[in-house]
Amino acid sequence: MHLQTKNVKLHSHRNQRVMAERKIIHIDMDAFFASVEQLDNPDLRGRPVIVGGDPDGRGVVAACSYEARRFGIHSAMSCARARRLCPQACFVRPRKERYREISGRIMEIFKKYAAKIEPLSIDEAFLDVTTNLKNIPSATWTAHAIRREIYTTLGLTASAGVSCNKFLAKIASDMNKPDGLTVITPKQALPFLRSLPIRKFYGVGRVTEQRMLAMGIKTGADLLQYSRQELVNRFGKSGNFFYDVVRGNDNRPVCPRQGRKSIGSEITLKEDLANREKMLTILTRIATRVAEALAKKKLSAATLILKIRYSDFVTVTRSRTLPTRFSTDEEMMAMVPGLLATTEAGTKKVRLLGITTTNLQQRDSHAPRQLKLPFCNRDRTPHY
Ligand SMILES: [Mg+2]
Repeated sequence: MHLQTKNVKLHSHRNQRVMAERKIIHIDMDAFFASVEQLDNPDLRGRPVIVGGDPDGRGVVAACSYEARRFGIHSAMSCARARRLCPQACFVRPRKERYREISGRIMEIFKKYAAKIEPLSIDEAFLDVTTNLKNIPSATWTAHAIRREIYTTLGLTASAGVSCNKFLAKIASDMNKPDGLTVITPKQALPFLRSLPIRKFYGVGRVTEQRMLAMGIKTGADLLQYSRQELVNRFGKSGNFFYDVVRGNDNRPVCPRQGRKSIGSEITLKEDLANREKMLTILTRIATRVAEALAKKKLSAATLILKIRYSDFVTVTRSRTLPTRFSTDEEMMAMVPGLLATTEAGTKKVRLLGITTTNLQQRDSHAPRQLKLPFCNRDRTPHY
């Protein structure tokens, strides 16, 4: 009896240690596009800078400096509205090539510190520094050193989050922006998650937040009251994710990107189309093709991009990134109608439709997935 208790204790102790063993840093550049513009053009420094489209047309804010954010401007807002909020703002067109170049240089810095790097976007990445390449004694000091090196070599500030899994590191990096460093130790993780407002959970967008609030979920503590099954019933696959992360469980590894960057498919229509229902039918066909291509390469994706070309040849894209991974056409079609609704498709005629998936990874055989139970093979007699 005594021995058994001891074993149980030992076991749970070991589990805790396994959980605490990983050290993950999430690095996120501060107002990246706008900061690069201020770096390259000293006249813009200290001023509200908005990178995006034409404020006289229907342009959208791609990024804005912290000076501009003080006026209530944020990305995805229309440039026209941004100008009304801050008439003295400097509007600049995006220079994607330049951002990519600097992004590459930031990546070179990461490579000096970590062997496992997973870029999330042009200005964000996860680094697994469980063992760092410079033998720096702690993950916090590693994050500090990386931020300092980015600042001294490139003149740009980054914010970093340090914790024991990707979910916590990502949330941490957002807590002291700009130019901040936040550490959530394994010991702090659970109390931190309990008090965290639900909108701060990575993966909870505005729609999910409203649904959670309607269920009485304002913080992590409220989320803890729901069973896995209840959350899956309400949120599908993401329900599993929410159930786990609020308990501090997130075993997703930091995965370097696969060679293939994206997989997609598009169809140019024989006739321009204004009917949204018909567009969705065609998009379902495209999603099936993309799902087949992903299956063939055994890949899953985190980001879906919907592409629309109107009859006047103006092309727009809308994207969505999930905290969980997807690969089936059903999963894609759960996102597509919402994205389509944010375009002018239907009001304007459409000549091309496309779906692209990015943020690809090899499907992880260790990831929790629904098991296919081997049913009794009725054609054969059981062996016993
Ligand atoms: Mg950023």
